[in-house]
Amino acid sequence: MEIVVIAIIPMLLFLLGAGFLVVAQVSGFMQSTFFNQRHNFSNMIIQRYMERITLAQGELFQRKQELEGISAQLSLSNQELARLNDMKSKFLSMVVHDVRTPLASIRGFSELLLRRKVEEKEAAYLKNIVSSTDQLGRLISDLTDLAMIEAGKLKMEKFPFNFPDMAKDVLPGLSINAQKKSVELIVHDLPEGVQVDGDKFRLSQVFMNLVNNAIKFTPEGRRVDVAFRREGKYIGVLVKDSGIGIHPSETKKIFEKFYQAKYQKDQKLRKQGWGLGLSIAQEVVRAHKGDIGATSPGLGKGSTFWFRIPVGT
Ligand code: ADP
Repeated sequence: MEIVVIAIIPMLLFLLGAGFLVVAQVSGFMQSTFFNQRHNFSNMIIQRYMERITLAQGELFQRKQELEGISAQLSLSNQELARLNDMKSKFLSMVVHDVRTPLASIRGFSELLLRRKVEEKEAAYLKNIVSSTDQLGRLISDLTDLAMIEAGKLKMEKFPFNFPDMAKDVLPGLSINAQKKSVELIVHDLPEGVQVDGDKFRLSQVFMNLVNNAIKFTPEGRRVDVAFRREGKYIGVLVKDSGIGIHPSETKKIFEKFYQAKYQKDQKLRKQGWGLGLSIAQEVVRAHKGDIGATSPGLGKGSTFWFRIPVGT
């Protein structure tokens, strides 16, 4: 019995070893098949990505060429635009120059005739000619400024001057305009001796433009207040009127050239201007490193126009 057991044990051990070997072989085989499949799958994905990348590269190249074409066209259009703009500026300054001279003689001769003994009706006609030539003259000078701004030639002749004195010089003329319209013009806090290093003529043009606009857009019997403020290194001017006011959507747009407020329905007032004064004023103030703006509580509630420029050192 013992001999049988002793003989069976090695056989069992042999069979067990062989079994293990077979299992190991089968599992190795299965693992390598699985690995190969995964490897092939990854290769396929990589290949697809490569194909897509190649396609995208082709498209990118095509787009780049298209963009280069568009950019070349744009550059040509830009050159053409610059040429046309230059022609427009030259044309504008030629017209302005050629209109100014005959306008001066029309005005001069009308005034001469007015000094003679003429009938009341004729005098009224002549006065009308004079005021119309004045209106045209203002347009011509605004167009001259615009042509200079567009050509980049609006130069500021800067010298130190007394800012309140500049205001004092022009206020009498502005008061006359206010009286003609039956608008009360009140000046507050005119300071003494504030020196500014700037273009006196241009800055007085800005000041007059704001006050004249305030008078123009204020109905008879109401008032316009002009105040001066020292704000740090700036001297500021505020022109507050009790006129037609400005819609909130237009307080910035009115500083664009040729812009007249859409909510300003009075055709007579529209025809008195060209929407150029404020854009020129903005250029002048910016050339002095200052700021300009307008606020209004709303239509019919008046507005406040202001500008400020640095004081001299
Ligand atoms: P314009 O010669 O037409 O007055 P501006 O450039 O001086 O040209 O003004 C542009 C527009 O801004 C005016 O047409 C008007 O609509 C508006 N505006 C200017 N000042 C006032 C004001 N004080 N009150 C209301 N609207 C104003």
